[in-house]
Amino acid sequence: MNDIISIDKQYVANTYNRFPVELVNGKGSKVYDKDGKEYIDMGSGIGVTAFGIADHEWSQAVAEQASKLQHMSNLYYTEPCAKLAQVLCEKTGLKKVFFSNSGAEANECAIKVARKWAAENKGEDCYTIVTLNNSFHGRTLTTLAATGQDHFHKLFQPLTAGFVHTPANDIEALKKTVNDNNVAAVMFECVQGEGGVIALEPEFVKAISELAKENNFLIIVDEVQTGNGRTGKFYSYMNYGITPDVVTTAKGLGGGLPIGAALLSEKVESVLGFGDHGSTYGGNPVCAAGALSVVSRIDDALLCDVTKKSEYIFESLKNADGIESVSGMGLMIGIKTVKPASEVVKAAMEKGVLCLTAKDKVRLLPALNIPFEDLQKAIEIIKEVAR
Ligand SMILES: *Cc1c(COP(=O)(O)O)cnc(C)c1O
Repeated sequence: MNDIISIDKQYVANTYNRFPVELVNGKGSKVYDKDGKEYIDMGSGIGVTAFGIADHEWSQAVAEQASKLQHMSNLYYTEPCAKLAQVLCEKTGLKKVFFSNSGAEANECAIKVARKWAAENKGEDCYTIVTLNNSFHGRTLTTLAATGQDHFHKLFQPLTAGFVHTPANDIEALKKTVNDNNVAAVMFECVQGEGGVIALEPEFVKAISELAKENNFLIIVDEVQTGNGRTGKFYSYMNYGITPDVVTTAKGLGGGLPIGAALLSEKVESVLGFGDHGSTYGGNPVCAAGALSVVSRIDDALLCDVTKKSEYIFESLKNADGIESVSGMGLMIGIKTVKPASEVVKAAMEKGVLCLTAKDKVRLLPALNIPFEDLQKAIEIIKEVAR
């Protein structure tokens, strides 16, 4: 037995329901399977390959750093880590960055910051973190507890205590939750990704911000999926005019290498001190060099292009046969189809377009720089198979 699919099935833990396709290489928004079949990539590794596959600038940055110094631990200073932190702070006005290796870990850091801040400033019995129903914050036991979807919790009890969920876009319920609990922070995604690509209503986000001021709790925005240009702003909270205390990000940040970051505002920049938190790989030079090449290229021209492509997608899909609705923001799109989403995704794949799903929707997270003709072709195929 030597075909990759059989080997994988035998030896890799059975946690992913993979499509029966073995991908071997790609360039930009095109990817090829082992038989040479071409696909347009509308998922970018779940919003990871922000500038597409084997992007020249990104590959160069990574290869150069890998051949110079691939790792030295956080006992020493390295340039990519410091410079990446600087760019992230300059682009957001936030003050300090803690680097980790994934979205879940970035959120773990945010949760530790919130707990320590609250313990020091509001008392040790203040630790509750409010999150939203239908949210997704990761797969560790603590970020699962934060995740407001019961089906992820089953059979993994007991989860980390101290999380309370409240419905999205329900201001009255939020007020009651805040009144009934000793709240350290409210944590949310501005656009719920895994939950079905649903943008929060601006009034609701504004209400969180006002309640945070009145009740002195932290605002944590989970930008793991929405961050780094995905929604047409550098971070999605910038669409809402709020000022978060902690911003977490990962996915698109690394452009394809594992990196996560928790960005800390002035209010919490000094909460974590020596020994309070750490990560062997966090801020690894190769990952940081790749991420630096990504964030340095997210400028106004690119963001404007993301918005234009988004408008094109919404415009092309609305009122199309077989499509009930389109949701999301920027190049983070959810499509409710009349046919089951999994059927549409399968048919699109047969015709050479790779899409994702989120709940009952077809989800698109193409590279931010997807060439317009690739985008156009993919959307036409999606329309055709959804009909
Ligand atoms: C993917 C995701 C996570 C988890 O990120 P990992 O890198 O898989 O740990 C957390 N929050 C949101 C909003 C995500 O989309």
